[in-house]
Amino acid sequence: MHELSLLRAVVDSVARVAAQRRARGVEAVGLRVGTLASATPEALRTAWPLAISGTAVAGARLDIDVVQAAVRCAECARDVPVDRFYALVCPVCATPTGELVTGRELAVAYADLADDAAAENPAENPGDAALPARDRPAASCPGHDHRR
Ligand SMILES: [Zn+2]
Repeated sequence: MHELSLLRAVVDSVARVAAQRRARGVEAVGLRVGTLASATPEALRTAWPLAISGTAVAGARLDIDVVQAAVRCAECARDVPVDRFYALVCPVCATPTGELVTGRELAVAYADLADDAAAENPAENPGDAALPARDRPAASCPGHDHRR
């Protein structure tokens, strides 16, 4: 399964970042997927649960940001959106262009790390929940949120 191997690479890189930051888990992973990328958002969503199963990213939500493909046209002096990329020409003025500026990407846009899991989900840590509120700085500081 083609999408699965693409996602495994994504999962590996997110898991590495999560480990570096000592995150307790990953809540969501955002992907930028070009309209001419080698996998469709639908196929990626289908493969996601299998790709994260048994990894440090298990349980994370998949967010997909679709990026419209475009060619850079010198004649139009702008990036022109394209649906297909059969020929290296601008779809507006038909000037030959060699540059597909967006559309092929399949990249991690962000990873929402659960580094504040204790504050968000006290039930996960009953020992902390039993303490008086003043001894739980994370819970007594409502503005404290590491998420972006
Ligand atoms: Zn053009």
